[in-house]
Amino acid sequence: ARRKYVVGNWKMNGLSDALGEAQAIFAAADGHPMVDVAICPPFTLIGAMAAAAPGKAIGGQDCHSAVSGAFTGSVAAQMLADIGASVVIVGHSERREGFAESDADVRAKAEAGLEAGLSVILCVGEPREIRESGGAIDYVLSQIAGSVPDHFDAQSLAIAYEPIWAIGTGLVPTVADVAAMHGAIRGALAARFGDAAEDMRILYGGSVNGENAAELLDAGDVDGALVGGASLTAAKFVPIIAAAA
Ligand code: 13P
Repeated sequence: ARRKYVVGNWKMNGLSDALGEAQAIFAAADGHPMVDVAICPPFTLIGAMAAAAPGKAIGGQDCHSAVSGAFTGSVAAQMLADIGASVVIVGHSERREGFAESDADVRAKAEAGLEAGLSVILCVGEPREIRESGGAIDYVLSQIAGSVPDHFDAQSLAIAYEPIWAIGTGLVPTVADVAAMHGAIRGALAARFGDAAEDMRILYGGSVNGENAAELLDAGDVDGALVGGASLTAAKFVPIIAAAA
């Protein structure tokens, strides 16, 4: 059986004084040992958070596909591992849209993360016009085909389905739509990877909060949540972790 996985994506939020929230979140998560919990703070906090919460799953929100080199401002996957990260998010829509990352770019980043020994959370999700035109599943399966690497250990690569129109908006797809999308993703993974697809976790993201988490996490093929705004404080994030337990 797949363990539930609840991940906080802090995006560009958090200064040093936020480390106490991370400690409170991880302390509360210890009360739910059947749930895997990770926090992905800004790069600047990873080292300090790893020191403040030893042994906990801490991740980056992006990495470069190269191991090193003349890429001003970028961070390599191995650098994340070196300062105590064990996870990296790749292909978030805010990177795909804001930084023009293609499926091929996302795939290369995922490969770099795996190569560095990180577990990867690979994001996909459709814009609102595509959802409204009825093309969401085709769109997402095309992202999966183009951005999921060929070789990985099933435990080390999770997919996060994040419909772009649901991120930070308070809008959430129906539970039936989430289940249909996650089932379609599982089917595509099974067609390509066989039985390994059963061990891969597929997370839902987009306006998850303490009120809606339980029903979303109960939907078919939903193995966890990727949480933005509601992951920034223990008061908001811990109820989501509890809902996954
Ligand atoms: P919100 O939970 O703030 O909608 O953000 C979702 C997200 O983009 C997580 O990666």
